[in-house]
Amino acid sequence: MSNNNVSVQSKLASGGATIFSVMSKLASEHKAINLGQGFPDFECDEKLKELVAKHLNEGKNQYAPLAGLPKLNETLSKKMERVYGMPIDPQTQICVTAGATQALYTAIMAFVNKGDEVIIFEPAYDCYTPQIQLAGGVVKPYNMTYPDYSIDWDEVKEMVNDRTRMIVINTPHNPSGTVLNKQDMEALEEIVSDTNIIVLSDEVYEHLIFDGEEHQSIMRFPKLFNQSLAVFSFGKTLHTTGWKMGYIVGPEYLIKEFKTIHQWNVFCTNSFVQFAIADYLAEPKNYEYLPSFFQEKRDKMNELLKDVPLTPKVAKGTYFQAYNYSDVSDMDDLAFAKYLTSEIGVAAIPMSPFYTNPPGDKVIRLCFAKNEATIQAAGERLMRLKG
Ligand code: PMP
Repeated sequence: MSNNNVSVQSKLASGGATIFSVMSKLASEHKAINLGQGFPDFECDEKLKELVAKHLNEGKNQYAPLAGLPKLNETLSKKMERVYGMPIDPQTQICVTAGATQALYTAIMAFVNKGDEVIIFEPAYDCYTPQIQLAGGVVKPYNMTYPDYSIDWDEVKEMVNDRTRMIVINTPHNPSGTVLNKQDMEALEEIVSDTNIIVLSDEVYEHLIFDGEEHQSIMRFPKLFNQSLAVFSFGKTLHTTGWKMGYIVGPEYLIKEFKTIHQWNVFCTNSFVQFAIADYLAEPKNYEYLPSFFQEKRDKMNELLKDVPLTPKVAKGTYFQAYNYSDVSDMDDLAFAKYLTSEIGVAAIPMSPFYTNPPGDKVIRLCFAKNEATIQAAGERLMRLKG
């Protein structure tokens, strides 16, 4: 066999592994408790597993329709009308995807052309920028900073011009744990009205929202919805991040074009899991428990870590909480996250990789989608920071 490798030029300037892969590898090398990557260390509902097994064994193993199984899209349509009051046509306004990541990728590929500008709010979930770059778009980052991570919409308005094609929002927000309120959404609606801007709304944490806050889905704003796409993930709602299943919702004319690209991207996703989710989410109690379930986990984390010298920005949503460590170290956040992982034995994610131009905040992100025993053990190790 020849060793003559063909030349490879990455289409992505940044290349390399994501911060999640880097920190998870370090965590396993040092046997650290992994509060870095966002995945539950507990199982999904047994009933859901039984449904998956049932449909698998009953032979639901051939291609599903491109837009998703009609039964699943019916379930989702009813759920969205129930939760957000917006009627969604199951046939023309929903497309089931291989996780939210593929929904975001396909939406960006479908609508962003070479030279188009896309405004994103940073710290931002790390797939947006490379996806926009692959589409030939230009990322225009807006910096949100610790502790409020708030948005001044007048400044956003200043960033908009004729080349702006898309604005990507994410609420509840990963990695900061903040949420957008009604006034934020109204300000956004005003900025994009009478423009050609598409709003791509990442709502994967729709049900992980606390302290009685209501999730401000794009679906609560009919005028805004007419030029928007909303992205969801079953991984977050069902504690099944490994299944990589999600969906996208929007007005018919945008979903039609989305599906044109989707058919050459994946065409459809696995069928037996779609059958199972269609049955499972038809029962509202199977998602209505989520806010209190995760709020309890957040509160437990705050109780167990109350003597640890890290200052939390109490999360309003998601299963992440931002922590300021300036009381214990001057290190930059990447160095501090590596130190926590290798020396203290708790893996965290630094904030700076979520920015194009990091503001230098001394902040890391911890995940609380964990069993109490995991968080307690992490808390005991973190007490070593007291020195
Ligand atoms: N958006 C955000 C904000 C996320 O946190 C995640 C998952 N961590 C995704 C999208 C991707 O979701 P999925 O695993 O369904 O692709």
